[in-house]
Amino acid sequence: MNCIFCKIINGQIPAYKVYEDEKVLAFLDITQTTKGHTLVVPKKHVKNVYEMDEQSMIAVHSVIPKLAKAINEAFSPIGLNVLNNNDAPLQSVFHYHVHLIPRYEDDEFKINMPNNIDKLTKDQFVSAVESIQKALRNK
Ligand code: 5GP
Ligand code: ZN
Repeated sequence: MNCIFCKIINGQIPAYKVYEDEKVLAFLDITQTTKGHTLVVPKKHVKNVYEMDEQSMIAVHSVIPKLAKAINEAFSPIGLNVLNNNDAPLQSVFHYHVHLIPRYEDDEFKINMPNNIDKLTKDQFVSAVESIQKALRNK
């Protein structure tokens, strides 16, 4: 399998590793969107959130609080974005990963979350809940 993160996990290519345990590896993202930008990945190859099993999810996400606190202590950012992209075009590496992106006053990272509340009716909210709950019943 030609997966860049599996190669990092196997030691075939180098990475700036910051944390490792039996199931999880964390290393600096090569692009360093902001100082301390870190990726947290399961050692098991799983493509994305749709294919994640609960145990891998627990393993990855249970180390995030301590990594977040360590990054906070190391670099004193003003905050932290915890971000996960799934499927192209958002996802570029198809091995599940969580970005820890510390934020600084003058950084150039932007997240634009439009507020559509004025365009929605109560019925549309209810219908959205019903659609998700209907799909959940098959899970
Ligand atoms: P995505 O767009 O899939 O959410 O993010 C993938 C991330 O992996 C990108 O931020 C990219 O910089 C990072 N990345 C890609 N190749 C490598 C690599 O070889 N080493 C490291 N450390 N990060 C990588
Ligand atoms: Zn992989």
